[in-house]
Amino acid sequence: MFIFCLVISALAKAQEATVKTFTHADTLRGSITPQRIWWDVLKYDITIHPDYENKTSEGKNTITYKVVSDNYPPVMQIDLQQPLQIDSIVLNGSIKSNFTKEGNAWFVQLPKQKKNAVSQIDIFFHGKPHEAIRAPWDGGWTFTKDSLRRPWMTVTCQGLGASVWYPCKDHQSDEPDNGATLSIIVPDTLVAVANGRLHSKTNNANGTTTYKWDVVNPINNYDIIPYIGKYVNFSERYNGEKGKLDLNYWVLDYNEGKAKQYMPNEVHNMLKAFEYWFGPYPFYEDGYKLIDVPHNGMEHQSAVAYGNLYKPGYRQRDVSGTGWGMKWDFIIVHESGHEWFGNNITSKDIADMWIHEGFTNYSETLFVEYMYGKEAANEYNAGSRKSIKNDRPVIAHYGVNEEGSGDMYSKCGNMLHTIRHSINNDSLFRQILKGLNTTFYHQTVTTKQVEDYISKLAAFNYNKVFDQYLTTTQIPTLQLKFSSNNKKVSYRWTNCVKGFNLPLVLKNDETEIKIWPTENWKNTDVKDNQAMLFQKDAIEKMYYIMTEVL
Ligand SMILES: [Zn+2]
Repeated sequence: MFIFCLVISALAKAQEATVKTFTHADTLRGSITPQRIWWDVLKYDITIHPDYENKTSEGKNTITYKVVSDNYPPVMQIDLQQPLQIDSIVLNGSIKSNFTKEGNAWFVQLPKQKKNAVSQIDIFFHGKPHEAIRAPWDGGWTFTKDSLRRPWMTVTCQGLGASVWYPCKDHQSDEPDNGATLSIIVPDTLVAVANGRLHSKTNNANGTTTYKWDVVNPINNYDIIPYIGKYVNFSERYNGEKGKLDLNYWVLDYNEGKAKQYMPNEVHNMLKAFEYWFGPYPFYEDGYKLIDVPHNGMEHQSAVAYGNLYKPGYRQRDVSGTGWGMKWDFIIVHESGHEWFGNNITSKDIADMWIHEGFTNYSETLFVEYMYGKEAANEYNAGSRKSIKNDRPVIAHYGVNEEGSGDMYSKCGNMLHTIRHSINNDSLFRQILKGLNTTFYHQTVTTKQVEDYISKLAAFNYNKVFDQYLTTTQIPTLQLKFSSNNKKVSYRWTNCVKGFNLPLVLKNDETEIKIWPTENWKNTDVKDNQAMLFQKDAIEKMYYIMTEVL
């Protein structure tokens, strides 16, 4: 997702106005409860039949799961948000199961099953689902019309959770290991698109058609999305790092001409840049798709939602204010960047959502660098800094389904740029980005795993640096003092967490110097051409810090 600045300030204001207290419902939603821990989702097989006229839906999710513990309460927590209702639950095709409900959590009574047993549970549901008012930022179904006043439907649900439209284990740490299918029942006059590949199209001989889509890779439950409208398709095969990648474009019929003109080139540039920096696109088996939507866009895995007017920039605006952001399509780049960070590597808890948005924000800088060079990338990155608010920490509370500050975007993009300059070895930095994508391939992770991996590869412990940017709102300040003859410079960190120790490499075309400041004054002898490197503007362009010359 990309949060527009206005939305960030609206959210921040709302949060200032109310001191948040967490409820039992937040814990049920955001933590691994005893009723969740004992089973591992292997597959979701979802059927959905939305009714456009009445704005209702009915459907079924068959969850294939594995018992992963001997010791557990014979109760399974299923999440489905009100006002949707579960009608019945059947275990292994025959055992009707009783259930109770607490808010949006449903507790299903099940017979005790042996560890490693694999079972299937069918959950039938119906109702009037929550509607999104401002998709994609608030979730739910969108029932709208295209510009020819024909029905157009889709869902957005990041943060709020997929349980806003189908019953599931609504926790990011458990992705269906073997993927998912989504069968969408629509009027014969409409076309339904979803993640992965089209498995079958069945005419039901009653005025409806079922489109079944199949994803073979693990997928976030908020990424599984139906798209329903007057879609047409065009496709091509792209020669990528891992072989032939199927690219499919599903656009409204009246957009086909401009989509053919505009989209493939933008997608090729994105794939070239990101396969260079991050390694192969992580879902070759499921292909890559761009799909027209009535909202701005979302990172839905192998089915990226696109609503950016077929024009460069972000809704024709440059988020960096430098001009570089007007040269490419922000939504294609940002939302596709999430295929590596967010979809391939997913945070276990949404409190760690910076892993999605921070790296993806930085993917914009890396895209600019690949296309237009290093200086352009430095400008883009520094330009994006103006949206940092330092209103509250980037990492939120764990276990209660809470997202941190909107600073998870550009502040974390700037943090990664800072660490990259500190490492001062671009080929190693690229190896780290690729290594994250292979080491944590199709996995869910914690902040600590990401920090430790980067520190290990960089051969320096950056944990205090991550702590600074992720858990505080302070901008670390580098204090500098020069001797009267400018032959010696003294330096220390202030306004920082205890133990903050970001090493700095300062350089220009002629020379460079590396210093290891701490909270205590240290000093080093400098040659005349090295003294020149300690200039506030030059330092702050490379590092997201403040510099104070005393
Ligand atoms: Zn995003």
